[in-house]
Amino acid sequence: MTKPAFEFNLLATDGQARAGLIHTPHGEIPTPAFMPVGTQATVKAMTPRDLHDVGASIVLGNTYHLYLRPGDELIAELGGLHKFMGWDGPILTDSGGYQVFSLAQRRKVGSDGVTFRSHIDGSEHCFTPEKVIAIQENLGADIIVCLDECAPADDYDYNVQALNRTHTWAQRCKAAKTRANQALFGVVQGGVFPDLREQSARFLTGVGFDGYAIGGLSVGETKEQMHAALEIVTPILPTDQPRYLMGVGTPEDLVECVARGVDMFDCVLPTRTARNGSALTRTGRINLRNARFADDAQPIEPGCTCYTCTHFSRAYVRHLTTTNEILGHHLLTVHNLHLLLTIAREMREAVLEGRFQTYRQAFWQMREQPA
Ligand SMILES: [Zn+2]
Repeated sequence: MTKPAFEFNLLATDGQARAGLIHTPHGEIPTPAFMPVGTQATVKAMTPRDLHDVGASIVLGNTYHLYLRPGDELIAELGGLHKFMGWDGPILTDSGGYQVFSLAQRRKVGSDGVTFRSHIDGSEHCFTPEKVIAIQENLGADIIVCLDECAPADDYDYNVQALNRTHTWAQRCKAAKTRANQALFGVVQGGVFPDLREQSARFLTGVGFDGYAIGGLSVGETKEQMHAALEIVTPILPTDQPRYLMGVGTPEDLVECVARGVDMFDCVLPTRTARNGSALTRTGRINLRNARFADDAQPIEPGCTCYTCTHFSRAYVRHLTTTNEILGHHLLTVHNLHLLLTIAREMREAVLEGRFQTYRQAFWQMREQPA
């Protein structure tokens, strides 16, 4: 019997928190895992070598953006997304659903799919479940995601209709998939409504996927609502498959959502805040543009082992940031990604050693100290 291309081993649990290992054709992903976002087939300001150095085991690519530019067929001709972007580790591509519902113009949703105009040149396109699977098969990521509809989180009637479409589309995505070496994740939706979240988790696990994404959160709802949604959804999902919370990735969200049974995360926060001159730290966020760092000889985060903190002062990074030097973006991105990837790794070790709750308490004690 040949080994399956995709496999998840749950190694330990501590409360709801989990430590596991995902096997893919391009290598292993230790979980909990944070996935740096490579929107345009690049994690902004980072080479694949830099990504390996900060400890990334998987990166995310955006189907919507890559379909529009440079085109999934071109990427397939050039050997697929791994080869195109020079990253030989695992890749996850999202379905493009979120971008269509947040970025594209003149959307029209029907039962068959969604037509929209490109945010770049206004050209008209249509995403059906079959089409987004074909695009993701051309891109060739290790993990691909079903087309889903992201409804406004607090509109019940809209969520009921969107959920029906999302569920039908999920079945069609599963039927359309032809490649055996890609894992397919379904997307649980349902906004902030407990009954809809439960219905979605039950429906999708009934269809059966290789893993489950949880979408439509971190879009303006309260933390309590996000946590409540997870507390309903994760106990319904199969224990022997990975759970991926889409678009969530502050240090505190990572800790609190791992505590509620999540295994995988992605977020533009570490890369986007870096370009705004901000650093994420264990005690909170600091903005290096602030004049108080002008003569500060300390590293961004004392004790941090990243390349930036072991070589440069806050004063130097502040100088690069205020003069808008490219290196400033790079150095802040290195630090921010290193921090999130380190927290994910520390949580994994804590779960494996049965001390996750102690880790969580220590994490929150650090937050209360001034930055
Ligand atoms: Zn650092």
